[in-house]
Amino acid sequence: MEIPVELILIVLSPIFFLCIALEWYQTERRQTPIYAWRDSLCNLLLAAMHQLGDGIALLLLMPFFLYLNTLAPWQIETNGWTLAALFLLQDFCYYWFHRASHRVRWLWASHVAHHSSRLMNFSTAFRQSLTYPLSGMWVFWTPLMLLGFDAKLVIAVVAINLAFQFFVHTRWGKHWGFLGYFINTPAWHRVHHACNARYIDKNFAGVLVIWDRMFGTFEPEDEAEPCRYGITDDFESTNPLTVTFYEWQRIFRHVRLADSFSGKWRALFGPPKAKLDQEDLP
Ligand SMILES: [Zn+2]
Ligand SMILES: [Zn+2]
Repeated sequence: MEIPVELILIVLSPIFFLCIALEWYQTERRQTPIYAWRDSLCNLLLAAMHQLGDGIALLLLMPFFLYLNTLAPWQIETNGWTLAALFLLQDFCYYWFHRASHRVRWLWASHVAHHSSRLMNFSTAFRQSLTYPLSGMWVFWTPLMLLGFDAKLVIAVVAINLAFQFFVHTRWGKHWGFLGYFINTPAWHRVHHACNARYIDKNFAGVLVIWDRMFGTFEPEDEAEPCRYGITDDFESTNPLTVTFYEWQRIFRHVRLADSFSGKWRALFGPPKAKLDQEDLP
């Protein structure tokens, strides 16, 4: 099955831009603006950097992924059943990748870019980090390749999962009724982007929200407590380079200043730290 995997998100981009234009137009007309051009431009540049980084990483990693396929005890043929199983397993891996990204600082260093805007709209989906390959997002897909799923197909399913997630970055739509019991929705993902105490580290779902319900991280959107978007830090920037590297800079500063091995280890792999100040050092 030949899919130009790295192109799936590019091919879908006209639909993404149309959604952004419609949401922008409607909210401007109603005089309830939720877009700021500097923020959206920053998101767009981050998407371009991210796509470039992912493209290069994929070229470098694909031989390794294909090698993992040769280690699998069997090769899984592609049919409707195995595709469904791959989709389910990949979404499960995505849940744990995303949950780890909020709990392990080395992963948060990349993921924080996605959360560091005070705004929430379709363009927020574009706000991604160039450094995901460095953090090791790809490591979470390797068990699927070792299980015998075709490596290219795994990457294609990852891309489809990410494409779906574009549509939950919006102020439009609630929890999609009955579907919202199983599927990630705009209401569930708005909660994920909020920094209100009760909403932090909730709703890590990619496509299926069943994992959050199973593992105790589900929180519905409560209209009595509107989401405050962004991170608990007072970080604010629309410079894509600052957005990409500021947490990495903090990490390395904390590693340098920590005077024990365990302190350095915590600075790298402990839970993320909220404030940039001396008292907060490991
Ligand atoms: Zn997140
Ligand atoms: Zn998001």
